[in-house]
Amino acid sequence: MPKTIILSNRLPVQLQINEGEMQAIPSVGGLATGMKSVHQEGESLWIGWSGLTREEIPEALEPRIDQALQEHGCSKVPLTEAEVEGFYFGFSNRTIWPLFHYFLEYSEFELSNWKVYEAVNRKFAEAVLEEASEDDILWVHDYQLMLVPQMVREKRPNLSIVFFLHIPFPSYEIFRTLPWREDILRGLLGADLIGFHTYDYERHFLSSVRRLLGLEVNFNEINLEDRMTKVDSFPMGIDYTKFHEAAQKNAGQKDGEESDLQRRLDAHKASAPDAKFFLSIDRLDYSKGIANRLKAFEYFLQKYPEYKEKVRLIILAVPSRSKVPQYQLLKKEIDELVGRINGELSTVSWTPIWYFYRSLGFENLVDLYTSCDIAWLTPIRDGMNLVAKEYIATRTDKTGVLILSEMAGSANEMHEALLINPNNFEQIADALHQAINMPEEEQKARNTPMQKRLARYNVEKWAQDFMDSLLSHREMDPPYVARRLTVDLTNTMMEKYRKSGNRILFLDYDGTLAGFKNDPQKASPDKELIDMLDALYKQKRTDIFIISGRDKDTLGRWFEGKGYS
Ligand code: UDP
Repeated sequence: MPKTIILSNRLPVQLQINEGEMQAIPSVGGLATGMKSVHQEGESLWIGWSGLTREEIPEALEPRIDQALQEHGCSKVPLTEAEVEGFYFGFSNRTIWPLFHYFLEYSEFELSNWKVYEAVNRKFAEAVLEEASEDDILWVHDYQLMLVPQMVREKRPNLSIVFFLHIPFPSYEIFRTLPWREDILRGLLGADLIGFHTYDYERHFLSSVRRLLGLEVNFNEINLEDRMTKVDSFPMGIDYTKFHEAAQKNAGQKDGEESDLQRRLDAHKASAPDAKFFLSIDRLDYSKGIANRLKAFEYFLQKYPEYKEKVRLIILAVPSRSKVPQYQLLKKEIDELVGRINGELSTVSWTPIWYFYRSLGFENLVDLYTSCDIAWLTPIRDGMNLVAKEYIATRTDKTGVLILSEMAGSANEMHEALLINPNNFEQIADALHQAINMPEEEQKARNTPMQKRLARYNVEKWAQDFMDSLLSHREMDPPYVARRLTVDLTNTMMEKYRKSGNRILFLDYDGTLAGFKNDPQKASPDKELIDMLDALYKQKRTDIFIISGRDKDTLGRWFEGKGYS
């Protein structure tokens, strides 16, 4: 039975080794949830890195780790510390991530990191090849593994391969600066279907393919030598029910059932019922525009000083890639900005910014979403931004205002939000003012259609749509696409040939039965070819047709007296 192989940098399971004991805990992130239906239905295998380097795994624990991963339908690609450094922290996060988020000045073009990226991609491809049969489906995820589709295609030409990019694809003018741009494009084109979050990313990719590889693009299909790659946009959704139901539960909590965080939030709300909470949640990443947001908050309080002591900004910055120097600098900048703004503006009864540098669990996240009147998310560039969707999903009474950067992929689906340019402080200050004063009916009128959309296009639907698109591409396959002969395919063909009761062979002449010649008259059939055709024709129940664009007289002369047409 065909199986689906999911390939991503990280597995959907967290491994923890405590005092020689090993635990495997399933992750609850967006991708793990979205892929749940794909991973659990039928036969499926998820291949990826376990999160622990070879050096970190005691040899004695190795078999137990493999067994634990197997129980979750997973298999690991072992990586050394040096590989993780060059492939993940190096090429993925210091070259591709900044470049694809338009931070050209942060992009490092290090040949040594590229080499490790290539080698690790090959490792992932080999792990797939060990497991994959010809009729399996391989789904490769994200920017860490962009070379894998072609590496697998070379060895398994008939495998169905799909790829989804979870970050933006930049415009051609940005992408062309990458020294290994053609390699990346060719790597991706090994897939039958390539998915992006938005139509803009898709358009940028097609433009790069056309201009850098000179390939023919028809609408959203790229013609390759022997097949076609389809490109399309599939905006990733969230597990809407999970967030909505958690918020309902949160609203129904009795006294004493709340979390500590919820109690503190409630106490502050009770002490100042008119005060508004602005919520900002992101990984601590330069693409998220956190420093800009802090400066814009200060600007807002200068422009509208009447809101001093009436608003509070809650910033949750989740630690991320803290080994990369840009992230360390950013952390320092944000710490200093928060300190300065709080130092300058605080009063005995008011701290304008509450700053959390940590990751919160799901329940606390829902506490924040449901308690804050305004979600303020202003990435400079963001592939999608799921936090925006999660905030709207938790607003069970349909109140609340979302201020969202137009540079986030999710802005394409959330046009009822207050969309802003994250660099325009004037516009941001006015949007905050508008949000504070927005009547409840307007809030509900804006949030209702967004909730409907999010409930419908949830993360399962995203995964399903992507798979359906592959299936419809495959159905179109036979009329348009030549298939390369592999050993498996040859064996199948021979077996069917032997068993068939009536055979018709359509044989192309020039370029197939006879090689191309400069002078076409010299391409007449030689004795070897005639003998082979005679031998075929002598077989029982076999008819032969020769297909050619040549004139009838020439072919009649060449094959005079033969039974075939
Ligand atoms: N998140 C979390 N704990 C936190 C903060 C965020 O689990 O303390 C989750 C959040 O629910 C969301 C994800 O992290 O699903 C962030 O996704 P998003 O697309 O907004 O940004 P990314 O980090 O993928 O760039």
